[in-house]
Amino acid sequence: MPACGKCGKPAVTRLAYNKTDLCSECFCAQFESRVKAANKDFRLFSLDQRTAVGVSGGKDSSAMLYVLAKKIVPGVHGARLFPVLIDEGIQGYRSKAREKAEQLCDELYLDLKVYAYKDVYLPMDEVMAARNARQANDAEFQGRKACTYCGVFRKSLLNKAALDLEADALAIGHNADDIAQTFLMNLMHNEAERHTRFEIANERKAGFVPRIKPLVYNLEKEAALYCELQNLPYYRGACPYSDESFRGEVKHLLNEMEDKNPGVKFNLVRSFLELQEKMNAETKGEKSGLGQAGNGRMKTCARCGQNASQSICQACTFVEELSARRKSTELSPWEMA
Ligand code: SF4
Ligand code: ZN
Repeated sequence: MPACGKCGKPAVTRLAYNKTDLCSECFCAQFESRVKAANKDFRLFSLDQRTAVGVSGGKDSSAMLYVLAKKIVPGVHGARLFPVLIDEGIQGYRSKAREKAEQLCDELYLDLKVYAYKDVYLPMDEVMAARNARQANDAEFQGRKACTYCGVFRKSLLNKAALDLEADALAIGHNADDIAQTFLMNLMHNEAERHTRFEIANERKAGFVPRIKPLVYNLEKEAALYCELQNLPYYRGACPYSDESFRGEVKHLLNEMEDKNPGVKFNLVRSFLELQEKMNAETKGEKSGLGQAGNGRMKTCARCGQNASQSICQACTFVEELSARRKSTELSPWEMA
């Protein structure tokens, strides 16, 4: 067993990207210090801030909630934390993860609020049944992945929850892997303008609670190890629909690259942040003008009441499309034959 490079105790892990062996205590201290570094670099927390924390019962959000609840990050002293779980309506998956999230919140004496797709939009199992029924005959539905629907519903419902809780910020468990994946996906889709929209800390806009990403400097597998070493309850299973996501393919590719070339993920995160800074500096004047006009154009969705750029928000548009398809599937005589 190699010795910890910091204190000499037996190491529990080796960080290949910086060739360091670390013991349990030094690893956990480093994990937490990276959350502090993210806070310092992106000013994520301020005193008395009300922070809604998106939790899923998985490793990332469990590690994030635990670090924040320890109140060791400057600015989180005195800040109030409000964990929120989104129930997507995926049988056999979400209920197990929810149990872990409830267990962790109980241990931390925090009250967990649950918002379900079924109460505002459609449960994911119904979304997938409707999509599958149509995609063989309707080109519009063929490229639609589960995560396309789910991502839009989740973003909208988390924002609703944060607004209900009168939160000043919404903490999301996006880690360095997620940032690297998003960066690559934007490039692969030739959507470079999206780089400026994926911010580590959003600016406040009317009707939208700013999202903050305290785990930007931590890798996914480090979040899992942190949960293990701190003995935190977290769910290890995967969503049954995750296989069909493009992100899943990019994740697999990046994991292989990282194994062979340790450090590529952090290099992508650095490149992303540098590029984003340059793009933001170039478009600063334009953005401030657009920001005001954008707020002026903001509407309220006629279906769910959330802020939207159109009269019906994207989430409700999806629900309408799927519901119309469900009705036509039930009623059309040639489909019943
Ligand atoms: Fe939703 Fe996709 Fe995540 Fe499953 S993998 S919970 S469908 S976003
Ligand atoms: Zn809506």
